[in-house]
Amino acid sequence: MATAPGRLAVIATPIGNLEDITFRAVRILQEADLIAAEDTRVTRKLLNRYEIKTPLVSLYEQNERGRIPELIGKIEAGQTVAQVSDAGTPGISDPGYRLIKACLDADVKVEVIPGPTASITALVASGLPTDRFLFLGFPPPKTVGRRKWLEDLAEERGTLVMYESPHRVKQTLTDIAAVFGDRPLALARELTKMFEETVRGTAAEILEQLGDKTVKGEIVLIVGGKTRKSK
Ligand code: SAM
Repeated sequence: MATAPGRLAVIATPIGNLEDITFRAVRILQEADLIAAEDTRVTRKLLNRYEIKTPLVSLYEQNERGRIPELIGKIEAGQTVAQVSDAGTPGISDPGYRLIKACLDADVKVEVIPGPTASITALVASGLPTDRFLFLGFPPPKTVGRRKWLEDLAEERGTLVMYESPHRVKQTLTDIAAVFGDRPLALARELTKMFEETVRGTAAEILEQLGDKTVKGEIVLIVGGKTRKSK
């Protein structure tokens, strides 16, 4: 049972289109005493759009350990601290987990204000089964590690959801083709933004379609789980 009068409000923010934010998120960002942001410059653009004047402090992986006690102290003194990441839901391949855990350990109230995440947006757009899925974050950056990581997932029946950077995506698709064969796949790019697209096919088909083109933008890969027919 939380005893402190303040609270941590973990707030999901847009993954591209700045209109993708809830009324509640905007209100709490306005009412909060402080916003802890992954990158204050990125969050400032969102705050400007909604004329939010709440002070900002940075909270990212390298300063988290030092900053968390300071933030908990403010909440215990009765303040509302909002936490946001650069895009989407904090804690999903983004800072969030450590602060939330520390607040809960300190018996401080944590409230999550739901909103966008690229993972679920891409999963739904993929047209692949959504009844069972596994969110994997980013694959290992090096080929050997990535192949082993994919091999360990080969028996998984749920749809696989992974983030990938544009400069590694072709290599990851090549590894997916080698390990999983011709399972259905969707590459969702620049979701909610001007050049949004979702390409569907097997990894080999998508690679062929990409050809020599440089892949740009933010990407989620959605891969069908193992079925009786698939590799
Ligand atoms: N917390 C975020 C969320 O809830 O989706 C994810 C943060 S993670 C550091 C950033 C990665 O998410 C990108 O490299 C990309 O894989 C994915 N991503 C974020 N925005 C996206 C978008 N608009 N379209 C496609 N993928 C996106």
